[in-house]
Amino acid sequence: MSILVTGGSGFIGSHFIRDWLTHHNEPVINLDCLTYAVSPNVLDDCSSDPRYTFIHANILDEARVDSILTEHHIRAIVHFAAESHVDRSIHGPEIFVQTNVLGTMRLLSSALRHWKTLSPAHQAAFRFLHVSTDEVFGSLCLDEPAFTELSAYAPNSPYSASKAASDHLVRAYYHTYGLPVLTTHCSNNYGPDQYAEKLIPLCIQKALRGEDIPIYGDGLNIRDWLHVNDHCRALRVVLDKAAVGTCYNIGGNNEQTNRHVVQTICSILDDLVPRSDGQSYKNQMMFVHDRAGHDRRYAIDASKIAQELSWEPLETFESGLLKTVSWYVQQFTSTGIQTSETV
Ligand code: NAD
Repeated sequence: MSILVTGGSGFIGSHFIRDWLTHHNEPVINLDCLTYAVSPNVLDDCSSDPRYTFIHANILDEARVDSILTEHHIRAIVHFAAESHVDRSIHGPEIFVQTNVLGTMRLLSSALRHWKTLSPAHQAAFRFLHVSTDEVFGSLCLDEPAFTELSAYAPNSPYSASKAASDHLVRAYYHTYGLPVLTTHCSNNYGPDQYAEKLIPLCIQKALRGEDIPIYGDGLNIRDWLHVNDHCRALRVVLDKAAVGTCYNIGGNNEQTNRHVVQTICSILDDLVPRSDGQSYKNQMMFVHDRAGHDRRYAIDASKIAQELSWEPLETFESGLLKTVSWYVQQFTSTGIQTSETV
């Protein structure tokens, strides 16, 4: 039997596949339609591994997904495939509904058809793990407690609304049809191979190009940051150990303002690749008009996964960010990575 990863060529999915192949012998099928967000040559390092198969397909194509599930004897689906950038959702929400809502519903329908064909033992072992976000819970004030698994949904952007809708569909397929689902809500991930529209790679690339580093509003919006490898390990633990129908929050206990994140990156760059004029990269920071509807603060209470599944983040923000910035500097200087534009 195999596991199916949707969106496995994206930022988190590609790290998950590498992590899976390091820790499991079970084959992994990567179903991805390769949107703009995919880095060229991602997962080339896995392409000769007999346990890894890439299939160029769209989660909206139910007939294709049906045959993949049967042909590869899929015993679990880890669903990452999504449109994932909030700014893009503000300028063009429809593709977010197509992919994140309709795509998830069609994937659930295919999963349910497949699940019904399995033996009782295989039905009991089957899992549909839906990878969601802390953004579905909306925005917190500074003095409010962090989101728990019981927090009310209050999505504010078209992106988070589409993810919230997909969460509800996943829940409905469990309650209505008995499909064995799991849902996770993770905070902001960082690490290598993230598309350069997201804050950390965008900041590094702009800095090294000598361009202004754009920061929304006053830069005091707060996010919790988690290294992508810690997220992938958490997903593996949830898939292996969590009870059917449960939800888990995943976070780094690491709330930072955007301004602090950018300042820290600039300090690291000052050490790694000092500017030729001796000035700090911080001089390139530029506060720009705020994002429409910008959520002020997200924070994750990850005590449930710590207590029930013994998962805790291993990477500190300081060490993780240093490794991440070093990786992008190396990429940038050797290949001149992808062009980045805010949208
Ligand atoms: P990403 O944009 O880097 O990757 C998304 C992947 O999905 C890409 O490979 C893309 O080609 C694929 N895809 C998109 N539409 C598809 C379709 N119709 N059919 C098949 N493949 C399709 O996103 P990411 O940052 O890796 O996020 C992955 C998942 O994790 C998303 O569901 C996102 O909501 C969730 N998440 C992300 C973060 C984060 O900080 N990046 C945090 C929490 C949750």
